[in-house]
Amino acid sequence: MRKVSLLDLTAQYQDIKPEIKQAVDNVLESGNYIMGPFVKNFEQAMAEYCGTKYAIGVANGTDALLLTLDALGIGPGDEVITSPFTFFASAEVISRLGATPVFVDIDPDTYNIDPAKLTAAITPRTKAIMPVHIFGQPADMDEILAIANEYNLFVVEDACQAIGSTYNGKKIGSLGTAGCFSFFPTKNLGGYGDGGIVVTNNEELARKIQILRVHGSNPKYYHSMIGYNSRLDALQAAMLQVKLKYIDQWNRQRREKAMMYNNALKDLPLKLPYVKPNREAVFHLYIIQTKYRDELIGHLQQHGIATGVYYPVPLHRQEVYKDLGYVAGSLVESEKAAAGTLALPLYPEMTIDDQEYVISIVREFFEAKGERV
Ligand SMILES: *Cc1c(COP(=O)(O)O)cnc(C)c1O
Repeated sequence: MRKVSLLDLTAQYQDIKPEIKQAVDNVLESGNYIMGPFVKNFEQAMAEYCGTKYAIGVANGTDALLLTLDALGIGPGDEVITSPFTFFASAEVISRLGATPVFVDIDPDTYNIDPAKLTAAITPRTKAIMPVHIFGQPADMDEILAIANEYNLFVVEDACQAIGSTYNGKKIGSLGTAGCFSFFPTKNLGGYGDGGIVVTNNEELARKIQILRVHGSNPKYYHSMIGYNSRLDALQAAMLQVKLKYIDQWNRQRREKAMMYNNALKDLPLKLPYVKPNREAVFHLYIIQTKYRDELIGHLQQHGIATGVYYPVPLHRQEVYKDLGYVAGSLVESEKAAAGTLALPLYPEMTIDDQEYVISIVREFFEAKGERV
C-alpha cells in the first residue's frame, strides 16, 4: 500500500548530506565539543537572523523557557499566564520553578491565546505572559505587549514552533522580553538531537542565562547562582549553522504546500488554517478541524496516510494539573480544538504527488458522507 508519513526527516538530510558531514568533521577535528567557536558562531547567526542583540544556546527548548523564567526571577508565589493549547513544556517550566501556570483560552481561528481574555486573568501575583506561537503562527503580539506594558509584565515568547515567522515584518522571538526556540529534530529548524536557544535584546537577561547554563558560574568554578548544566552541543551548533541557511527556503516550501491544501480543501466542511493579516506563518504543522476527526484519521490510516493529534488533552485538563481546579468546559475553545483537530502530512520535501494523494483521500471521505459545501 502507498504510504505517506507525517514528515520525513531523512529526505532533508539527503539534500544537505555533504555539508552536514563536513560540519560534523570540522567539530570532531577541532577538539572543541562543549561551547567554543561553533556555538558562538551559531549564536551570532541566530541573533542576526532574529534581529536581536543576543542569542544564548542551551540544551533544548524546554530549558530555553526554564532558564529565561528563572533568570527573570520567577518562582514560588508567582503566576505566569500561558495557553492551554500547546505542548506540555510551556506550562511545565512554570511549575518546575514553583510558580503557577494560569491558562487563558484560545482564539478558535488561530489556536493562539486570546488577548481579549488576558486582562481578566491578571492578578497581583502575575509576573509574565508566555504567548505560544502555535503551529508556526504568531500570536497577537500588539495586544499582548500593550497589556504587558500596562501591568508591567515580562513577555516570554514560546517560539519553539515558529522560527522564521514574522509579525508586522519583525521576526518572532524578537518582540517580547525574550524568545525561546527548540531545535528538536521535528521542528522547522531541527538538529540531529536536542538543542535550544534564547534570543533577547536585554543584556542583563542574556548575561544571567549565560551564567545559569554553566552551573551558575562566571568565571568557571566561581558560583554566584544555583544554575543548570544546559548547553547547546558544538556538534548541534555546527549542523544547525548549515541548516539555518536553508530555513527561509524550507519555510517558503511549507507555506506553498499549506496554500495548496487550503485551495484543494476549501469547499469541504473543514476548518482550515487561518493566517491573520500582517503576519507570516511558517506552518510547523498543517492543522484542520472537523467533527469527524477520529473517523477521518481512521480513513486516512486505512489508505496509508499518517496524521497527528496536537494536542489531545489541553493542559488545564491534564491529570497533573487537576489541583489547579479547571473543570471540563472551563476553557471551552481549547477543549473543542483538542477534540476536533488533526495534522495532515506537511514538510518541505513532501512531493506534489503525495500531497495530491492526501487531498484525494480527504475529499473521498467527505464525498462518501455526502458533505460538500
Ligand atoms: C517543542 C516545544 C517545546 C520544547 O522544546 P524541546 O526542545 O523539546 O524541549 C516547548 N514548547 C513548544 C510549543 C514546543 O513545540
